[in-house]
Amino acid sequence: MKSMKRLGSVILIVLLLVVSVGEHVPVHAIATKQASSQAKVTITKKKTTITAGKSYTFRAKTEGTTETITWSVSNKKIGTITKAGKFSAKRAGKVTITAKAGTASAKVKVTVKGKQIIAIDPGHQSKGNNEKEAIGPGAKTTKAKVASGTSGVSSKVPEYKLTLEVSLKLKEELLDRGYEVVLTRDTNDVNISNKERALFANESGADICIRIHADGSTNASVTGASALYPSTKNPYVSKLSKASKKLANSVIKSYCKKTGAKNRGIVARDDLTGTNWSTIPVIVLEMGFMSNAKEDKRMQTDSYQKKIVEGICNGIDSYYK
Ligand SMILES: [Zn+2]
Repeated sequence: MKSMKRLGSVILIVLLLVVSVGEHVPVHAIATKQASSQAKVTITKKKTTITAGKSYTFRAKTEGTTETITWSVSNKKIGTITKAGKFSAKRAGKVTITAKAGTASAKVKVTVKGKQIIAIDPGHQSKGNNEKEAIGPGAKTTKAKVASGTSGVSSKVPEYKLTLEVSLKLKEELLDRGYEVVLTRDTNDVNISNKERALFANESGADICIRIHADGSTNASVTGASALYPSTKNPYVSKLSKASKKLANSVIKSYCKKTGAKNRGIVARDDLTGTNWSTIPVIVLEMGFMSNAKEDKRMQTDSYQKKIVEGICNGIDSYYK
């Protein structure tokens, strides 16, 4: 009986072992299988709005995988990201940032905001508009809605074409420098009065407005650039005078330094409709004289336009410093 009892115990232990092992193996196998199919990346530290010029380090963790996390960005023009997740915002726009580990990944949508919004008004349009409008809020004095502008004595190119060509290049450079940009027009065939341009810039959320023009004179030898701003005695926008004057000074200085154009200085002007309807600091940049053959030809070249654009942007940068 004793040996039978012992045998019974041995059998019981063996049976228990088989059962427990038999149970244990499949459970373990299922757990492992589930873990690998559920490899997961979670972004643990993120931001969805970042200002151009700033950087931010994203963090992520993994579950069910030993693969390391790598970071990538959908548009490198808008911002770049290091392997460690440090994102440097460059240009206003939207991107998707992805953290990837093996086959698992997680994404976050990020909006890069501009440092400031800059309004650019490319002066004139393909056809002037002689209908009248008040030169400022409550003004009895009226002026043509849009003058036809000057044209190149040598190039024969009309001012409205030059101002748009430069403004489109200026927009790209400002975007590259982290600003947001609004243009009052991006084609020549429009009909927008100077008052309407100012109201558009005001409502756009822009911080400042730069009106791009070129000069003309009956004296063919006159050359150089100037920046026009409203005076402290301006009946409509005297409160914008100080900031506009600062902007005018800043832009004309950088502009002439970069282009080598003669600096004709800053000029207070209170008769300009597009300035008088503004609610944000505003200047008119007269880039040079289209009535001077040499300056006219130079302003048509791509290399000089690059200098124009850099000069203006340097001026805007230093205005904000
Ligand atoms: Zn003009």
